[in-house]
Amino acid sequence: MPRTGTVPWMIDQTHDVAVLGLGGIGSAAFAALARRGVDVVGIDRWAPPHEHGSSHGQSRIFRIAYFEHPDYVPLARASSRLWQELDDRNPERIFVRTGGAWIGAPDCEIVAGSLLAATRHDLEHELLDAGETSHRWPALRPPDGSICFHEADTGVICPENAIAALIREGREAGGQLRTETQVDRIDHEGNDIVLETTSGRISVNRLVVAAGAWSDRLVELPSVRLQVTRQLLGWVRPQDPEPLREGRLPVWGFDDEGDSFQYGFPICAGFPGPTGLKFARHSDGVPCDPDTVRRTIDGDDEAWLLQHLAERIPAAEGPLTHASTCLYTLSEDRHFVLDVHPDNPSVTIACGFSGHGFKFCPILGEALADLALEGGTKHPIGFLSCGRLKQAGNEGP
Ligand SMILES: Cc1cc2nc3c(=O)[nH]c(=O)nc-3n(C[C@H](O)[C@H](O)[C@H](O)COP(=O)(O)OP(=O)(O)OC[C@H]3O[C@@H](n4cnc5c(N)ncnc54)[C@H](O)[C@@H]3O)c2cc1C
Repeated sequence: MPRTGTVPWMIDQTHDVAVLGLGGIGSAAFAALARRGVDVVGIDRWAPPHEHGSSHGQSRIFRIAYFEHPDYVPLARASSRLWQELDDRNPERIFVRTGGAWIGAPDCEIVAGSLLAATRHDLEHELLDAGETSHRWPALRPPDGSICFHEADTGVICPENAIAALIREGREAGGQLRTETQVDRIDHEGNDIVLETTSGRISVNRLVVAAGAWSDRLVELPSVRLQVTRQLLGWVRPQDPEPLREGRLPVWGFDDEGDSFQYGFPICAGFPGPTGLKFARHSDGVPCDPDTVRRTIDGDDEAWLLQHLAERIPAAEGPLTHASTCLYTLSEDRHFVLDVHPDNPSVTIACGFSGHGFKFCPILGEALADLALEGGTKHPIGFLSCGRLKQAGNEGP
């Protein structure tokens, strides 16, 4: 029954909670809410998993010794357990522990930052010199004088398989889906939130906005400024794939001595998508509009992707067989924004994942369910609140 304050004949559906956006973050929130028996609807403009947002491309790195900031470590630890459980419960291959090798000068962010997080949280790790690194993984060619930070608990998550499993689990627990349904506007009518969509109006008590690159088009977020950027992923067909398979190659990253680093994955069996070795480069990227971003790949893109690859992993030398684009949504300090909306406690927001959010989906799904239902959470996400961005300088957590 529609609730007081709505116009009954215009509302197609009523639910307690809506999750707007079913990428990695929203599908985890949808599953968490449905498992708790909440009357939840998950809405997406496309049919997830899809290639239009930020949660596609076969693989995402999972790691615990978090070089971006040690405060993420408890969330990564909790996610590790939840990913493993999701993988165990589902037929798709979702999470593979491969180990991770972060290589660069001793004081570069990916080495020094990982070491800081590991030391502060007493995480198991090893530091290897260049000779020890290439002895352990003969496919890698670390530069002389570099250090490798190795974490055995690092692994690979398949985003397409993860999202499919989360949405299926949410549906099996009673969650409703409205896919291929775009939310055009969010209105407040009395205590109700009314979503104007391309397939009718949906009235809810509470809303979780996990709309990735489109978040600030849907909800005004005082103090939060987001920038969407174009990112590239590539696959090569190596002449000899054997030394590049899981078990023989870890997740790897090489510092670029600048504001980017090149990284990639071992070849994992059972993941959908292109064959071959997948690699990419983490950098801020080029600002873009998520609706008109160029999805085609040109020669400059190829050169940017392939730069240094054969030098760092000679066995990976081979033709670029596939490349695609993906979106980062950068917050000003490159940390997530996860909070109850400062002006409206019925709305919870999750955005600004800044190119490193996927690994936290299961724990953030739980935290978002807590925020939506109770207005707070026991999970340590205080450092990701909107409030930090009000402070001058936006120096992060
Ligand atoms: C190239 C690349 C590599 C990455 N590598 C890693 C990694 O190794 N490890 C890691 O942890 N993270 C990584 N990330 C980051 C991670 O993938 C993202 O932080 C995460 O996927 C963000 O998920 P999301 O749910 O916020 O956004 P999205 O997946 O984009 O989901 C948002 C959803 O909202 C929907 N939506 C938007 N507007 C509307 C509307 N009006 N109506 C209905 N639906 C709407 C969209 O259709 C979409 O499905 C990477 C990202 C990229 C791009």
